[in-house]
Amino acid sequence: MIPYSRQFVDEDDIQAVIEVLRSDWLTTGPKVSEFEGAVCDFVGATHAVAVSSGTAALHAAMYAVGIGPGDEVILPPVTFCATANSVVFQGGIPVFADVDHDTLLLDPVKVEEKITERTKAIIAVDFAGQPCDYDKLREIANRHSVALVADACHALGAEYEGHRVGSLADMTVFSFHPVKHITTGEGGIITTGDPERAKRLRLFRNHGIATDFRERESQGSWFYEMVDLGYNYRITDFQCALGITQLRKLPKFLERRYEIAARYDEAFAGLPGINPIAVRPDVFHAYHLYVVRVDPGALGIDRAAFFTNLREKGIGVNVHYIPVHLHPFYREKFLTGPGLCPVAETAYEQILSLPLFPGMHDEDVDKVIKTMQRLLSQ
Ligand SMILES: *Cc1c(COP(=O)(O)O)cnc(C)c1O
Repeated sequence: MIPYSRQFVDEDDIQAVIEVLRSDWLTTGPKVSEFEGAVCDFVGATHAVAVSSGTAALHAAMYAVGIGPGDEVILPPVTFCATANSVVFQGGIPVFADVDHDTLLLDPVKVEEKITERTKAIIAVDFAGQPCDYDKLREIANRHSVALVADACHALGAEYEGHRVGSLADMTVFSFHPVKHITTGEGGIITTGDPERAKRLRLFRNHGIATDFRERESQGSWFYEMVDLGYNYRITDFQCALGITQLRKLPKFLERRYEIAARYDEAFAGLPGINPIAVRPDVFHAYHLYVVRVDPGALGIDRAAFFTNLREKGIGVNVHYIPVHLHPFYREKFLTGPGLCPVAETAYEQILSLPLFPGMHDEDVDKVIKTMQRLLSQ
């Protein structure tokens, strides 16, 4: 089976991890700050705080924004459930705003409609690797004095009007899960331009304790104070060593993702019934996912059957995502359900994510295309 995504780890990555295993620091040590600095440089941010997962990064961002019981956070339903869960972790209320039909990105007009006096933040999700409409979202966030957080777990390396994702929102979250652009096994990071928020993020990742062990060690002091309730969301030094070597390969990874997406684009331009998600002209798409809509009217195709047929032929397609507001937890706890975000709900019936990862060979890409062409001409 050709998977929809897969990590790319080579000898250079393995050596970097082994080196740290032989050093004094397994958890928070020099590699954590080195990795944070490298991510800052890459995205053009001034602060970065690395944590144990993308989910922990989202939770920390909600804490740093100051989300508490009853606060509303507007976000799209076309995302992984962790985006909404991070609001609930802090006692906040996720408010789902529908997406744009063509791009499946958060629709600024729908965001505006959902703003109330309890709105504290907007979470933009750069679905599939395409940046949201940051100009419009920024304008709305400023006008209503709410924070703009980016869930850019799909979008490391993406650009909006020439600026890298990671420097566009008040805080930006990335994930280093193996299916994402680069991996640390599990891991995540928050980038921000605000030193106060960076401080709060660091506090939150370490139990709410104001200094970390390494700082105390270097100062020869046993004293520490826990000033707020935090978690153990630390990432290890050997994970960050992997992150550093992976980040060096990112430009090549992005290039390969782009090439594969271009092959798909070319093939599907002449294939009725298969419509790739639209790409806006002002972006560099990082192509975490290549998502197509299967037109239910064309040639009698049904997405569910098409999905099963492709899987049987060894093509590991996937569906991103079941709209979050349709999950039983949200229906029961927040009384969401069908009809709340019709654009996302209709898209969900039609979308398919095709295999796309840097180690994918041209023959694999051709196999995906040929298999789809054959199934559609039957
Ligand atoms: C992967 C992902 C997350 C969660 O990241 P983890 O590192 O798996 O915790 C959150 N949001 C989106 C959009 C993601 O794709």
